[in-house]
Amino acid sequence: MTDLSIVSVETTILDVPLVRPHKFATTSMTAQPLLLVAVRTEGGVTGYGEGVVPGGPWWGGESVETMQAIVEKYLAPVLLGRGVDEITGIMSDIERVVANARFAKAAVDVALHDAWARSLGVPVHTLLGGAFRRGVDVTWALGAAPAEEIIEEALGLVESKRHFSFKLKMGALDPAVDTARVVRIAQALQGKAGVRIDVNARWDRLTALKYVPRLVEGGVELIEQPTPGEQLEVLAELNRLVPVPVMADESVQTPHDALEVARRGAADVIALKTTKCGGLAKSREVVAIAKAAGIACHGATSIEGPIGTAASIHFACAEPGINFGTELFGPLLFSEELLQEPIRYADGQVSLPEGPGLGVELNMDAVKTWTRN
Ligand SMILES: [Mg+2]
Repeated sequence: MTDLSIVSVETTILDVPLVRPHKFATTSMTAQPLLLVAVRTEGGVTGYGEGVVPGGPWWGGESVETMQAIVEKYLAPVLLGRGVDEITGIMSDIERVVANARFAKAAVDVALHDAWARSLGVPVHTLLGGAFRRGVDVTWALGAAPAEEIIEEALGLVESKRHFSFKLKMGALDPAVDTARVVRIAQALQGKAGVRIDVNARWDRLTALKYVPRLVEGGVELIEQPTPGEQLEVLAELNRLVPVPVMADESVQTPHDALEVARRGAADVIALKTTKCGGLAKSREVVAIAKAAGIACHGATSIEGPIGTAASIHFACAEPGINFGTELFGPLLFSEELLQEPIRYADGQVSLPEGPGLGVELNMDAVKTWTRN
């Protein structure tokens, strides 16, 4: 076997343009910053991971700039000289050097998985116990355009069989206006496609108690994180109030967070992002708790580029606990292709990439084009 010792850890920040502005409650982005982490072995194998947050530090306090500093100054020294097959040991040693910073740690965890799998000539899902499915359902995030345009876009995507379920971001507008807009869209798509919403924790309790039931009556099929992440009692109250599933996202970043959500009955579904959980190994711990508690998991995204998305697809295809679909649409939102062969989306699903490691190969010319100067 080739020498698995890590000889270098390199980072590159990219800014990749999007096909349209992607709106969140507090910000809007026209390009997504990505931190590429390349782990190279003595045997000449390079594994890639991606440090990626939704647009900037508003979600969880990390950004590509903080991740670059953490990886280069604090995580790389832990990796150098170790073997890429020592993932458990390395990730556990990293905890002694850096607290939290889970998005940065995820980039390293994925790069190690990619490098180890490539060294063995196997796909990353083999390291996770093997794929038990070859594709997963993908929900599409609709934009912030006027309702008529959104309805037209959604119906077009249903027609072309690319997606059968849609997510709308809320929280940026006045709640009454926001709710009326979403209900209009949900009614227009009723019977044709599912509509779910994500408030990104922006409503307070009283606003949520007033508008969440109206959304559900209007045909919304799933309510994601309407209220602040730490307020689990409020999420539990809403979960008891409405008949459709409530999904926890900001509320769950660690296995212990998942345990608390389970204990309080705060959510029926957990949005599982391999990024926010700190990588593939930690994500399995979160899913294990959800499974034991009868909570479903949705394969969620932090608008990952092709590397992060491929990692999340390998995870979702190897982990039966990801049993509530996914939103692993990241690459479809990018207007520029970073891979030699794009990830395949068709019939409402994304396919598990084939080949060693993550099964995707970067187009280094494209990477160079979008590298931040
Ligand atoms: Mg969310």
